[in-house]
Amino acid sequence: FSGHSLLRDPRHNKGLSFTEKERDAHYLRGLLPPIVLYQELQEKRLLQNVRQFEVPLQRYMALMDLQARTLISSDAYTFILLNDPSGLQERNERLFYKLLVDNVEELLPVVYTPTVGEACQKYGSIFRRPQGLYISLKEKGRILEVLRNWPEKSIQVIVVTDGERILGLGDLGCQGMGIPVGKLALYSALGGVRPSACLPITIDVGTNNEVLLKDEFYIGLRQKRATGQEYSELLDEFMSAVRQNYGQKVLVQFEDFANHNAFALLEKYRENHLVFNDDIQGTAAVVLAGLIAALKSVGGSLGDHTFLFFGAGEAGTGIAELVALAISRQSKFSIDEARNKIWLVDSKGLVVRSREGTLQPFKKRYAHEHEPIKDLLGAVKAIRPTALIGSAGVARSFTKEVVEAMSSINKRPIILALSNPTSQSECTAEQAYSWSQGHAIFGSGSPFDPVKYNNKVFVPAQANNAYIFPGFGLGVVIAGAIRVTDDMVLAAAEGLAEQVTLEHIDKGLIYPPFSIIRKISANIAARVAEKAYDLGSFAVSCSSLEFYQHEKQVHIVLLFYVQAWLVISLARKIW
Ligand code: NAP
Ligand code: MN
Repeated sequence: FSGHSLLRDPRHNKGLSFTEKERDAHYLRGLLPPIVLYQELQEKRLLQNVRQFEVPLQRYMALMDLQARTLISSDAYTFILLNDPSGLQERNERLFYKLLVDNVEELLPVVYTPTVGEACQKYGSIFRRPQGLYISLKEKGRILEVLRNWPEKSIQVIVVTDGERILGLGDLGCQGMGIPVGKLALYSALGGVRPSACLPITIDVGTNNEVLLKDEFYIGLRQKRATGQEYSELLDEFMSAVRQNYGQKVLVQFEDFANHNAFALLEKYRENHLVFNDDIQGTAAVVLAGLIAALKSVGGSLGDHTFLFFGAGEAGTGIAELVALAISRQSKFSIDEARNKIWLVDSKGLVVRSREGTLQPFKKRYAHEHEPIKDLLGAVKAIRPTALIGSAGVARSFTKEVVEAMSSINKRPIILALSNPTSQSECTAEQAYSWSQGHAIFGSGSPFDPVKYNNKVFVPAQANNAYIFPGFGLGVVIAGAIRVTDDMVLAAAEGLAEQVTLEHIDKGLIYPPFSIIRKISANIAARVAEKAYDLGSFAVSCSSLEFYQHEKQVHIVLLFYVQAWLVISLARKIW
């Protein structure tokens, strides 16, 4: 390294934090102003810089500049130099993660939803430099070659999207890249996974978004989405290239695929690859954790209650399946008996037996015997559920009548309004509390401010997937897992729920505060790794099993907890 190139390498650059000694050792004298800034001070200054932007998208861009990876073309570089008010010295990856970890509640909505959604929509015009790998139809037959162009050789987690259903925003094609980049930033910041071991990938098979197809700044293929055989061949090639290049212990997280591909891809690849779908399994785990926690206040176990889902897509059925598994594991019910406690409502009304002929396969298991009901209120009155879980993306669908009906059936109705963004929420926190006269246990997909009702302050809980996936991924990595099973997802949910205290629930919270997310992640990682280890050679590679074999006498979960906590807390020092 010459001093000059060291300053341009985000992974090693420390900017003004280089000590006098380091400045001599690395030929940095004169390239930096004389002052030595401690990281804390640097961080403080940077936070001030980020905060000075009032527009969230600008905050996002300032943070992403800081994270800038090694792939910087000189043009883009000059551009950043001219545009980046925080200055060259601070383009520094460690500082980015430190800032994110230390200010997670403030910055999460910037690097992830909702701001990342806006960033994706405008990716074409704010595009500065590649932050991940693009694999398009043009690369068919050469995907292995493409993977080898990525500078890092040892990869532990890949997040991949095909951009067809980005958050609640729909098809953003190639511009979906913001999502894998953002998710992996959280893997590192919240789960301690080395940034260089994270690989964001966007698969571009075209887009059906007319606006993008006509946009002169659009960065992706200008064609309609490939489907059928062409699509599945590209994905098959991708999965086997990943296996060939990185081995079988790399976790591939599918993110924001459209519902019609998401279930099929998960079913197909989970048998032979280490895959996880956050929209299905991650959501399921975080919501199940919320339900388990809420029952600490409601009473009884999962099997004693009835659950009504409004919306039966990726999120809804994913949650339903995990709840059913949890019921059957906790009680004497078979999985089918457990499914009988769960009812779905989709766009055509209550899912019932008489509709079986026209239902998608994943809904059929929930088509119970009942007369058809078209509307949600009717379904609530007929099914009398303990919990109502909304994920239909239909704003204002939990009306006053619906919430009142829930309250007349339950002393403490559980009401989860999961649809995102805030504008699509089934009801607001305030509505849930006031319409239920303060009795509802409420959770939501988008954040809501605390609500004062009858002189009591309620803190609405946000069912944020970021509670689960960083810890889940870390658990998979430290266990040396080669398959993800539903029991591992269940273990993650339990690992989260067990950290919710009665004190939290009293305030209305069905999740622990996000400020302790690293501790939460470590606990989830330990639970997941322990479960993988329990499942043995099916889920864990033999070399990893051997590694832990002689530790059998100690409590394995404790061992994993210590390991996870070490990874997470030493993360920024080692990277
Ligand atoms: P999806 O796969 O497209 O599913 C949507 C479901 O809603 C479908 O079953 C659809 O019915 C149903 N639906 C649509 N309009 C309806 C109506 N008028 N009445 C009743 N049902 C209706 O979408 P998804 O991936 O599950 O996501 C759904 C929502 O959940 C999004 O807003 C997303 O942001 C949110 N979400 C939140 C979290 C979280 O809070 N952590 C996580 C994931 C997703 P048909 O099956 O009949 O088409
Ligand atoms: Mn997602």
